[in-house]
Amino acid sequence: MTQELPKLDYEYNALEPYIDAQTMEIHHSKHHQGYTDKFNAAVEGTELANKDPIEILKKLEDVPTEIKDAVRNNGGGFVNHSLFWKILTPGGKEPSDPFFGIINNTFGSMDEFKDKFTDAATKQFGSGWAWLVVKDGEMEIISTPNQDTPYSQGLTPILGLDVWEHAYYLKYQNKRPDYIKAFFNLINWEEVEKRFKDSTN
Ligand code: MN
Repeated sequence: MTQELPKLDYEYNALEPYIDAQTMEIHHSKHHQGYTDKFNAAVEGTELANKDPIEILKKLEDVPTEIKDAVRNNGGGFVNHSLFWKILTPGGKEPSDPFFGIINNTFGSMDEFKDKFTDAATKQFGSGWAWLVVKDGEMEIISTPNQDTPYSQGLTPILGLDVWEHAYYLKYQNKRPDYIKAFFNLINWEEVEKRFKDSTN
């Protein structure tokens, strides 16, 4: 099954002013398309061609050596961005009361969650991602370099922030913290909660 670039649920300009339309268009139609095409090319003609990319990345150790790096980087890029677009929404969506309660219980408060997530996103050196993941039913914050995906560590990502410069440089230049702050206005907590529930079922 050839992977296709997922369509966005909103227009490229819908996340303005927090993420600008030009960044969105390049990020989706060039970068994500590139990961998609290169992943397809890497697995074409192999036994992995018909497998779900997430299932492949969960067992990266089983991927043949000659295509392992390509699958890790481009399969990761495909999967990570597919999640990223879904957990963004124009204006953001608030968490339900029960899920807000789980966040408070886990991190102390929403503000403490944001502080810890910001810390992970800020300190990720160079290109990578900050994540809210689920491990054994509990939420944790981690970061990964490059396009490494939490799935390869046995974790289920439910929220991710792309901190590659291509995700923010046109608007924010070197000011990654401003981009991280803006991101919190766009989180689709309904989607995050759905993914949390799916991960614990
Ligand atoms: Mn990206």
